[in-house]
Amino acid sequence: MDMEYLIRKMEKYADEKGIPIMEKDGINFLSEFVKLNKIKNILEIGSAIGYSAINMALASEDVTITTIERDKDRYIEAVKNVKNANLDHRITLVLADALEFRTNEKFDLIFIDAAKSQYLKFFNKFSENLNTKGYIITDNIRFHGLTFSDKTKLSRNLRQLLGKLETYINFLNDNKDFKTRFFDVGDGIAISRRRLDNNEQNITQDK
Ligand code: SAM
Repeated sequence: MDMEYLIRKMEKYADEKGIPIMEKDGINFLSEFVKLNKIKNILEIGSAIGYSAINMALASEDVTITTIERDKDRYIEAVKNVKNANLDHRITLVLADALEFRTNEKFDLIFIDAAKSQYLKFFNKFSENLNTKGYIITDNIRFHGLTFSDKTKLSRNLRQLLGKLETYINFLNDNKDFKTRFFDVGDGIAISRRRLDNNEQNITQDK
């Protein structure tokens, strides 16, 4: 299937079914990052229908991706899309709750794009699977501009969720082992990297 056509079809499907996928500039940023930093293997938490996994795989032919999704219907749709993109040899889809998934593999990039209330758990659990010089990227840091905003008019559930997201952002800011840079692209992206011994840090991105 023509790749452009498949990508547009996935965007339309996600829009119609109300499935959250990365925003356009967010996915472009991520693809550039993968290319620029010569990322070889990626663990993605939250595949949805495979949109970001397919886009990251298209960024470079050297990239392999393991991606985890807990919703069966989305997983099935992702399997279909990955097959249509002829990327099944480079993208491994896993149907599981990421918090129950275990692997000994080490990755150059861990991309967190699943339940926002669990970001902290994902980060702590999967940082063990990160190569020494690897990156952890988290999406939806701004949450439509709601993080660190006035919450008085918001529902209790939303306030709780934002509270967890803010705790996560503070955790990243105060982290002694990881250095994080925040990028105002898409819905807000955080890029974290282990601090080197001499505290020098290099997180590069063209934007
Ligand atoms: N990365 C996808 C993209 O841009 O194409 C979008 C992912 S969507 C924002 C988040 C997905 O994470 C949802 O499909 C949801 O079912 C899944 N999810 C949430 N919590 C999860 C968990 N604990 N384990 C696995 N998947 C999870």
